Amino acid sequence: TIDPEPPEAILAHRRRVIGRSLSVSYREKLKIVRGRGVWLIDHTGRRHLDTVNNITHVGHCHPHVVAAQARQAAELNTNTRYLHGLMPALADRIAATMPGNLSVVTFVNSGTEANELALRIARTALGKKDTVVLDWAYHGNSGGTVEISPYKFKRKGGFPQPDFLQVATFPDPYRGPHRGADSGPAYAADLDRCLDAVAARTGDGAATFIAESLSGVGGQVVLPQGYLAGVYDRVRARGGICIADEVQCGFGRVGSAFWGFQLQGVVPDIVVLGKPIGNGHPLAAVVTTPELADRFANGMEYFNSFGGNPVSMAVGHAVLDVIETEHLQAKALATGERLMAGYRRLAERFRVIGDVRGSGLFVGVELVGDRETRLPDAAAADMVVDVLRRRGILSSTDGPDDNVLKIKPPMVFGPDEADLLLAETETALGALA
Ligand code: PMP
Repeated sequence: TIDPEPPEAILAHRRRVIGRSLSVSYREKLKIVRGRGVWLIDHTGRRHLDTVNNITHVGHCHPHVVAAQARQAAELNTNTRYLHGLMPALADRIAATMPGNLSVVTFVNSGTEANELALRIARTALGKKDTVVLDWAYHGNSGGTVEISPYKFKRKGGFPQPDFLQVATFPDPYRGPHRGADSGPAYAADLDRCLDAVAARTGDGAATFIAESLSGVGGQVVLPQGYLAGVYDRVRARGGICIADEVQCGFGRVGSAFWGFQLQGVVPDIVVLGKPIGNGHPLAAVVTTPELADRFANGMEYFNSFGGNPVSMAVGHAVLDVIETEHLQAKALATGERLMAGYRRLAERFRVIGDVRGSGLFVGVELVGDRETRLPDAAAADMVVDVLRRRGILSSTDGPDDNVLKIKPPMVFGPDEADLLLAETETALGALA
């Protein structure tokens, strides 16, 4: 093997020579040497069920994607200043999934880059930097995206809220100030406050609004109905632009739609795609309208050394092939419903489960110490994750209080895997009780 180091040695080695602000999952660290479908295999040959990796959308090392990537890598990989048919063809396929006139695509290498570009397009069109985000949002790791990510800048090591940024109340229908599935309009009304603040600063309320269509790091929160419609109406009434970040929830994961924003019945001005589009290969994209694309083409070129290269494009096509041929959107809907029904059954026995929510294979289970006060129970969530880890199930937590079990596995996760996850979670919750 080319990698004989045991896990403890790699951990020590990393600590010496790799950037220091990077964590490693689980108390007992894992050295993973192989991936297959929903399974990750460690250096001892033990397999672990992957219930959280939404990047490897069509499954780890899917043979169709691997073959397409290898074939293209052996043929040609270069930048986009030569003509190559795979790029516009992939743009066509992506545009065909979008509503309205979202038809112009730019390919980049990461969700961060895609959000950076989306912000630049919107800000160029508006002629100002003013931006509204949701509290607790995360949109990327660069300077410009951390600046608009309360999840980062409000925490340890962060900085004060930038003056061009307004932070809207996080529309969490379980824990937030407005409760219930029909709380969307009440949360959307908070945009009036944000846009008034923009107007006080700049003379008018035009701003860029950016939000995930379902919130990932916010704790797997399904936005209450009517939220994005109410927000988009307000933003557009003041001349603003709406960006949907589909990096986590796009490409059929939510089951009943291909894109998360479709659950809210809105059409964004710009859509940001990432993670699943390349199944682990660095690929992301920005989709916008011809009008906004024209306004961004103002003389300054946007060039990206790697974005849109033929290998990335071959991967993007292959991922879409698998989503279609294996009917992964329909599968996500069915498996997600089976999972959520199972968690709701567990909630009848285990009072620590305060809320079960989700759409398709984007699921959150919120753990609380008290159902009345909804006191977050991060320790319980951490223990469940640890017990599952030892039993061969890889899971994770999220949310402002770190008390939400997040489930967003590769989309090839089926009924057998769902039942296994539920059975093991039942064991973990039993150990907790
Ligand atoms: N947006 C969202 C919603 C994300 O979850 C992430 C990554 N966690 C990003 C953007 C940034 O993507 P990347 O890590 O590919 O730069």
